[in-house]
Amino acid sequence: MKEKITYKKVDVENTFHDPRQDFQPTVVKTHVRYDPLTGKTGHFSHFGAIKPQQLDLEKYLDPQVKGFCPFCGAGREANTPKFPREILPEGRLAKGEALLVPNIFPYDVYSSVCVMTQGHVVPLEQFSFDQLFDSFVVGLEFLKRVKALDSSLPYQIMGWNYMPPSGGGLVHPHQQYFATGQPGNQFAEELRASELFYENYHLDYWLELVTVEQKTGERYIGQQGDSHWLASYVSLGMLGEIVGVFPGVYCIDDFSEANVSELVSGLQKIFSYFSHKVIFSFNASLFFGPGGQQFFPAHFRIVPRTFLNTRDFAPDLNFFQAVLQEPVSVVLPEDLCREVKTFF
Ligand SMILES: [Zn+2]
Repeated sequence: MKEKITYKKVDVENTFHDPRQDFQPTVVKTHVRYDPLTGKTGHFSHFGAIKPQQLDLEKYLDPQVKGFCPFCGAGREANTPKFPREILPEGRLAKGEALLVPNIFPYDVYSSVCVMTQGHVVPLEQFSFDQLFDSFVVGLEFLKRVKALDSSLPYQIMGWNYMPPSGGGLVHPHQQYFATGQPGNQFAEELRASELFYENYHLDYWLELVTVEQKTGERYIGQQGDSHWLASYVSLGMLGEIVGVFPGVYCIDDFSEANVSELVSGLQKIFSYFSHKVIFSFNASLFFGPGGQQFFPAHFRIVPRTFLNTRDFAPDLNFFQAVLQEPVSVVLPEDLCREVKTFF
């Protein structure tokens, strides 16, 4: 019987006379993988050639470097906007150190920023469980309320840029939560492909993926409560990608506080791995499909980011991602899995 999920890979060999080895013929092997859901390709090359760069976090506290931060101290009450009463009667949502406010640079009709901490610079290892938990709780509360208020925007997204290599404009930890009708190309393609898989096999692709990955173990990192954590077969990031799947959570309304705890537990383990690997920056997102379907469960995606060097701050994205829309990774997902697993 034909496998429902297939892993396709094309090996590439490149030969040249290497000046580093007295011009002896040298063969370099790379490969291209096809995402088993969408069929989109990703290149794997340059293995081990790119090392994450250490950031000088102290520097970000230097008043000269820091400049004005709207999220710092008592200023965050005075400097951040409030929602109109019709959207959020309280104006803002608060829990512990987390404060959710409108995004002054909105992405859609309902667009918010969650200021996660009082502190301006929070190293990954110092994020407390409560700081992370409270931030997700207020962010999800906002998205759930927006969904009840206006059903015309069916998709909910959490986006998170942490530290400057990720493209984050502010060092102060913050996440973005917004509802939208246009969730981005990656989301839209995965949603479409998940629906097609469901039509073909009457199965949730993501659940099937977890089952298959659990069996082979090559990319299966571990479980936190009901959530499953995997290294993606095709990585969106230069240094790999980790996905957390929440089987059966087909609608944001079903994402419980227990799910938030599982998410935070998984995240803290990944943060320990990042700290161990000197990874100081990442992009992350939490995706929710539209209600009423049974093929696109909530999932979380995290991609490490780094400058290639801190001499001229070259970013880890280049023509491949910018104009070919092709991910390139220098880390094999199977190696990433093996390393992250020891932290789970
Ligand atoms: Zn700040």
